[in-house]
Amino acid sequence: MSTGTSTVATNPIDNVRRGADCAVTALIPCYNEEACIERAYREIAAELEHFTECEILFVDDGSTDTTLEKIKAFAAGDERVKFISFARNFGLEAAFSAGFKYARTKWTVQLDADLQSPPAEIHTLLDKALEGYDIVFGIRLNRRDPWLRRMGSIGHQLVAQKLLGIKLPLRASVFRLVRTSVARRIVETNLRSPYFIATAPLVGARYIAVPTKHQARVAGVAKWNAARLISHAMDLWIGFSIRPLALVHLTAVVAAIASTVLLALLALGWIGPTAIAVATLVLGSAAFLGLGVLSRYMIPALRVRSELPRFYIRETNIPIDQADDLYGSEQPWVGTAQ
Ligand code: UDP
Ligand code: MG
Repeated sequence: MSTGTSTVATNPIDNVRRGADCAVTALIPCYNEEACIERAYREIAAELEHFTECEILFVDDGSTDTTLEKIKAFAAGDERVKFISFARNFGLEAAFSAGFKYARTKWTVQLDADLQSPPAEIHTLLDKALEGYDIVFGIRLNRRDPWLRRMGSIGHQLVAQKLLGIKLPLRASVFRLVRTSVARRIVETNLRSPYFIATAPLVGARYIAVPTKHQARVAGVAKWNAARLISHAMDLWIGFSIRPLALVHLTAVVAAIASTVLLALLALGWIGPTAIAVATLVLGSAAFLGLGVLSRYMIPALRVRSELPRFYIRETNIPIDQADDLYGSEQPWVGTAQ
């Protein structure tokens, strides 16, 4: 339960967030972000000066550049800095899962290493959360991403709203502040893609969205290609709904009726072989599309990926109580960076 209120928790004169009720972990997943990680650390660390209790938790998602070395250097000079480094690139959702599992404050806010979500907006999210919410999503009103990506994202969210009945405004982003205990519940559902917008209602979370600013990436390149984005979108549609299966069924019925009608028209001589060839192509494509949908549903059943752990930690400066999360039998490096 939220106990503080923004007026009590914030001193309006120095804008300081005091005590455990406002304690926040800035969770920053990083994958090959050497071009922006220093600026990100500087800006996030400066913003967190307003908090008497906080931590900055970097999750290095198997970077192959100098990202991890840079993070270790931050940790050497700032005891608020914690890090978890994965054995390989496990993906953004895995990075979030690890972060929520090991964050030690009441609230966790997800930030990007490229500073697309401005750290100053943490206050906007926290003020709302202190009104009694478990999750506050940031809505990107002026989203600074390529237009194709923006359109794709809105299309994806529209499908999700229709398929899953999610009552969340379009343009909600991964810039969100979450009550850490609730985030853990979501992670514990052990879904491979614990989509917050879909899982939050399932665990009974109280959530809301507020407008936040959005910026262009400060440096480096975005890590998502089209294939990865589509696969991620399918995880939501198929992982949380069986309506696509009903659509496949409906398509089969429509195709059977259409085929019968076309054959009758051909027999009557009302249409020629060209029309039948076109119809065959259309129906054939629909059949393969249906097969594609079915095969997506079979992935978890085949357990090709689902028996793998969501992540392995190779190196960290926080005590890890779950030995299962560690890579191999060796203990990871634990302690304060020197
Ligand atoms: N990221 C990650 N693992 C990945 C891909 C991305 O940890 O496999 C991190 C990345 O370093 C960044 C955040 O997720 O901090 C958002 O990634 P990006 O900026 O590439 O995505 P976009 O903003 O285009 O959605
Ligand atoms: Mg980005």
